[in-house]
Amino acid sequence: MARRAFLLLMLLWLALPAAAGNEASFQAGTRAFEQGDYLAAARHFQQAVRQEPGDALSHLWLGMALQRSGQPDQARASLTEALRLGGDSQVAEHARAALQALNRLRPARQEASPGTTSWRRVGAVQGLLGDDWYVRSTRHGRVWARQADRAYLREFIDNLDRAYEINAQFMGTGAVTPINFYCFSLDSPAHRQPRFAGLGPTRYLGLAVGRDTCLLNLGDWRTSRHIEPWEMTRVACHELNHMFLHALNLRSTSGNLTWFAEALAHAIEDRVLPASRQRTLETMRVALRGYTSVDEDWRAMVAERDHDEYEQYRTYGVLLASITSFLQASYGPDAVPRILRAARQGTLEQGFQAALGRDIPTLHREWKAFYGIL
Ligand SMILES: [Zn+2]
Repeated sequence: MARRAFLLLMLLWLALPAAAGNEASFQAGTRAFEQGDYLAAARHFQQAVRQEPGDALSHLWLGMALQRSGQPDQARASLTEALRLGGDSQVAEHARAALQALNRLRPARQEASPGTTSWRRVGAVQGLLGDDWYVRSTRHGRVWARQADRAYLREFIDNLDRAYEINAQFMGTGAVTPINFYCFSLDSPAHRQPRFAGLGPTRYLGLAVGRDTCLLNLGDWRTSRHIEPWEMTRVACHELNHMFLHALNLRSTSGNLTWFAEALAHAIEDRVLPASRQRTLETMRVALRGYTSVDEDWRAMVAERDHDEYEQYRTYGVLLASITSFLQASYGPDAVPRILRAARQGTLEQGFQAALGRDIPTLHREWKAFYGIL
């Protein structure tokens, strides 16, 4: 549906002459929008609106870009302005439709939204065990589960769209949607499913596979530990972040993006939870006080974490999340989208250099100093 609205807007844009005084900003905005860089698009459309405050079309596009970058309140204000200025034009009509879609998304009303209320029985699904599969859609996702697991997934489903929007705002981009979440119970984990057997048995609770598929285990089959619904919500937010990053197709000079992917995902995973369950800079500082680093660099730390045979004796979650918090505290709250934007012009390493004026080894040293790590 999002795609169709976008195509309509493209046609609309081609059909109408752009206002004279803001054409360059407007076109830069649509280009960024097309590339999925919604934060950049919003900045260009904001400029276009400043140049031509009466241009309803620029307000409409600004609203769309703000919505895609996870800023629903600002989006609502821009769309309302487009509606007011648009009179009875097509622009106003699109603004009205976009506003209605946004209002259906309000968290308080989420349960009443038709898209998130009902499971549809599918039966057997090729490559998956069992013949009692159900699917349920949310705005950005599609959840697949077996009959008996449906009730357990309620909290996770209620938070799924918010997890998407939190990631969109954090990353300044969108992901390929709809995203399919396949949920597997403890006695029938992901790696036993014929379709996903090739991925091998690991300790994962969640695994992003490509740009639009995510596997979720409802328990850790090695320890027979069932995971709590809030943990599932956190895992989904983490894996969603990997899908956002994957959609950007970044390259790395050293051929290693994993440490960065994990630093981002661990930093964002708990933002979908109640504040009392979230890490703060202070809790991280306390956790890392007196910590002695044994890794030459961030890549080495993640390589050890991902080694299935090793005991997991370190608090990788805090260590990795602390990298992102350090970047935000030292280089500004928008450090992540700036790095990502710059990295898309070249490699991840060049992106760090261009956005922050530092190379990664220097940042590693600064990170240790920041937390007092030895
Ligand atoms: Zn991960």
